[in-house]
Amino acid sequence: MAQITLKALAHTYSANPVQGSDYAIREMNHVWEQGGAYALLGPSGCGKSTMLNIISGLLNPSNGEILFDNKRVNELKPEERNIAQVFQFPVIYDTMTVYDNLAFPLRNIKVPEHKIRSKVNEVAEILELTDQLKKKAKGLSADEKQKVSMGRGLVRDDVSAILFDEPLTVIDPQLKWKLRRKLKQIHEQFNITMVYVTHDQLEASTFADKIAVMYDGQIVQFGTPRELFEEPAHTFVGYFIGSPGMNYMDARFSDGKLFFGEHELPVSASFLNQLTQADNGRLQVGIRPEFVQIWNKQQDGTIEVRVDYCEDLGTYKILTFTLAGQTMKARLSEDQKVPSDKAYVSFPKQWTKVYRDDFLVGDAQ
Ligand code: ADP
Ligand code: MG
Repeated sequence: MAQITLKALAHTYSANPVQGSDYAIREMNHVWEQGGAYALLGPSGCGKSTMLNIISGLLNPSNGEILFDNKRVNELKPEERNIAQVFQFPVIYDTMTVYDNLAFPLRNIKVPEHKIRSKVNEVAEILELTDQLKKKAKGLSADEKQKVSMGRGLVRDDVSAILFDEPLTVIDPQLKWKLRRKLKQIHEQFNITMVYVTHDQLEASTFADKIAVMYDGQIVQFGTPRELFEEPAHTFVGYFIGSPGMNYMDARFSDGKLFFGEHELPVSASFLNQLTQADNGRLQVGIRPEFVQIWNKQQDGTIEVRVDYCEDLGTYKILTFTLAGQTMKARLSEDQKVPSDKAYVSFPKQWTKVYRDDFLVGDAQ
C-alpha cells in the first residue's frame, strides 16, 4: 500500500512537441494519498489512461517523477511496482478456468495453495462468481469475463494500489451499480489506495471520497463531490458536474463592479477585491441552476428575464430562460409555480462565482 506522488509529471506522444496541446499530460503535481478511494473523472481523450499507465509503469513519462511512498519508481518495471490494473476490456486467459484465472496473480508471487483457495473463494463470493469457478473462461458472457478481470485485480491485498480504467464499460447498467457498491466495500475492507477512472460523474461520486477532474491533460480540481458542486475551481468542472451544468455569463469589470450586459451582478466583496488587484483576462460569472432564484413578481434586486420553456422531470423542473441574449437554466421544485413569458431572477451572492480565464478567482466568499 502506498502514497503515489506525481512530481512535475508531463507526457507527450509527439516526437517534437511545440505547444501545450501536444501534451497528453501537461506538467502537473499530484498526490494520491495512501488508502484513499479516488476517481479520475474527465471526458474521452483528456489523458486518464495515459496517467494510469504511467503510474503502473506501462508507459514512461516524457518528464517528471513517479514516487511511491516518496521513493522514485520511474526505473521499475510494471511487475516490480506491485500495482494491480483493471482495464476497460477483460484481460483473462480463455483456456483457464475462472478459478485458475483468479489464482494466477497469487501463484505468480508464490502464495501457498491453501491461502490462494481462501482468497479466490472470498473474491468469487464478492463478485458472485462462485458458481462459475470451475468453468473455462472462454464460455463466459462479456459481463462475467469482466468480473473475472476485476477479480484478478482484487485478489492481492498486498498491492501498492489498484487502478481501474473504466472497468464497467461493458457491464450492463443494473450490474454496474452493484459492482460499484462492491468496489467501495472492498475498499473499506482492505484500505488499499484505489484510483477509478471514469467519464461518468455519477460513477465517480458513488465510488470516490475525492474526485480529480481532468480536462485537456490537466487536473483542474481535486475535491469531494460536494466541493466540485459548490465551488467549481474551473469552468469545465462547473459544466461537467451537475445536470444541467453551471450557467456562465461573460462579465465586464468596471468602476469596481461586475456587469453582465447592463446588469450589475451580485458578487462578494472578496471577488471584487481580487479583481481590482489584477489584470482581468476573460471574466465569467457562474451560478448553478439549483441556486438561481425565480420569482413571479419583481422583487428588490431581481432582473427581468424571458421565459423560454420548462421541462418537468418528475421530482423537479428545469426552467430555461433568456437574460441579455443568453440562455440560462434554473432548477425549480416540483410544486413551484412556473412563470410564463417573463420571470424575475436573482442570484444569491454566496453561489455566484467569478472566473478569470476559466479558473475560479482567488478564494471565494
Ligand atoms: P482518456 O483515457 O482520458 O480517454 P488517453 O490517455 O487515452 O485519454 O489519451 C490522451 C490523449 O493522448 C488523446 O489525445 C489521445 O489521442 C492521445 N493518445 C493516447 N494514446 C496514444 C498513443 N499510443 N499514441 C499517440 N497518441 C495517443
Ligand atoms: Mg482511457
